[in-house]
Amino acid sequence: MKRIKMLAGNWKMNKLNRDLAGFFETFFESVGWHQDESLSDRVDVLFAVPPTLLAHAVPLAEPSGVRIAAQNIHWETAGAFTGEVSVPMIKEVGVSATLIGHSERRQYFAETDVTVAKKTKASLVHEVLPIVCVGETLEQREAGLTQDVVARQVKVALADIQDPKDLILAYEPVWAIGTGRSASAAQAQEVHAEIRGLLLALFGHSIGSGIRILYGGSATPNNIGELLSQKDIDGALVGGASLKPEDFAKMVRAAL
Ligand code: PEP
Repeated sequence: MKRIKMLAGNWKMNKLNRDLAGFFETFFESVGWHQDESLSDRVDVLFAVPPTLLAHAVPLAEPSGVRIAAQNIHWETAGAFTGEVSVPMIKEVGVSATLIGHSERRQYFAETDVTVAKKTKASLVHEVLPIVCVGETLEQREAGLTQDVVARQVKVALADIQDPKDLILAYEPVWAIGTGRSASAAQAQEVHAEIRGLLLALFGHSIGSGIRILYGGSATPNNIGELLSQKDIDGALVGGASLKPEDFAKMVRAAL
């Protein structure tokens, strides 16, 4: 099955509402997005932005075929969960996707494979595209545990999912995130191939071959071409470089 490449930006806890209009203007201009109507059919672009920006980013991006995503959601619909935001809440403001289980959430906010599984389920139930993040720490890689760790994370996250209509996985080695030290294309491809095998085993060929697997971890305009040329790398989740509209635009162009 043909998998359209996806470039997903993760702004983390950066930017204010007053930055949005200028950012999107420069980004669209740098890509040449509005000069070629076919672009939005050839590459999927998404920005995961902080909660205060969601409602304002949607009308600036979604009419041009660029998705706005949350960076986190709660698995319950509503209730006594102070400080949390549910999937219907993000949907209400036009958001169509969410990151789940980013390593910073696992590391600093005690998210576990079990909470990742609940969030993935909730997101699919409400028809919001989940981008489920997995990846090993440096210690785990050096101990030869990469395959075991990633397989466990994927299996637990998807344990309660029978027939995912639309689901994305992001392989993000923790040691590569925000460090300037990307995995090599070969290292990334090796893990992506393992994840692909797992998806085929879990969901069969017709569904498993259509699920996109993004790479994340210090992807930049310099290394994106080589990463995207790998058979099982279907796009990238990009932190730092997605904050600069010209850099991210170059990465989108590389995917075309
Ligand atoms: C990320 O935040 O998911 C990420 C990959 O960050 P960076 O590109 O900065 O390593």
